[in-house]
Amino acid sequence: MRLQGKRAFITAAGQGIGRAVSEAYIREGATVTATDLKADLLEGLECETFALDVTNKSALQKAVETAKPDILVNCAGFVHAGEIAEATDGDFDMAFNLNVRAQFHSMQAALPGMVERGGGAIVNVASVAGSILAAPGRFIYGASKAAVIGMTKSVAKDYVQRGVRVNCICPGTVESPSLKQRLEATGDYEAAYAAFVARQPMGRIGQPEEIAHLAVYLGSDEASFTTGVAHVIDGGWANG
Ligand code: NAD
Repeated sequence: MRLQGKRAFITAAGQGIGRAVSEAYIREGATVTATDLKADLLEGLECETFALDVTNKSALQKAVETAKPDILVNCAGFVHAGEIAEATDGDFDMAFNLNVRAQFHSMQAALPGMVERGGGAIVNVASVAGSILAAPGRFIYGASKAAVIGMTKSVAKDYVQRGVRVNCICPGTVESPSLKQRLEATGDYEAAYAAFVARQPMGRIGQPEEIAHLAVYLGSDEASFTTGVAHVIDGGWANG
């Protein structure tokens, strides 16, 4: 088991990528604390679970400090659709609070303990949409996910000699409940799904389990020589 003896703290573990990562971490022997805004989504996960809104700084930092994780996986994020012309300050603030600030706060809470215990691994979920490529109609989202890559690299740089590795995952389009909602919101689910598939060189979108494999690797000691990297996993999308 690749994560035997490791304690992991995971946000947005209720569905999609966070759920798949939690299941994979449990399978690989980690002691997992799985959290989500909605407690009912955590049902069925065979580990410690509780409701946690990552935008609540004190609750988030207390939960992370209590869990004493060797691995922190920051999955929580929201996709705003739209170009700059449609962007509101409210949506911009919401995206940066959830997608960016919450990762800042959880990392800040996890790092002292990791250093004290001799090391750790942080895995932030970013996206290819942002600084790796531009996805149409993803102004706010792309800005927030580019910031995740920047934070990841910065913390990796500062903690590389203190035993903490910090990486981020940049998925392409992955099947999840929120992707389904975004496709439905276009008014023509079938056409929107076909358009997403059409931009994929592999001719299909990804599955959360495929992202979880990368999260297992990055959290494990197998990735001991890897830090400060934005790991693209996108079915060849960013390869043009
Ligand atoms: P999703 O969007 O379907 O689920 C998101 C989860 O986050 C839900 O369980 C929700 O309850 C939880 N959540 C929302 N607000 C929260 C809060 N304030 N505190 C704690 N939890 C909260 O899942 P997904 O599509 O797999 O997305 C997960 C992550 O992966 C996000 O950061 C997303 O940006 C990123 N991502 C997704 C895709 C994709 O195509 N699905 C692609 C690239 C990156």
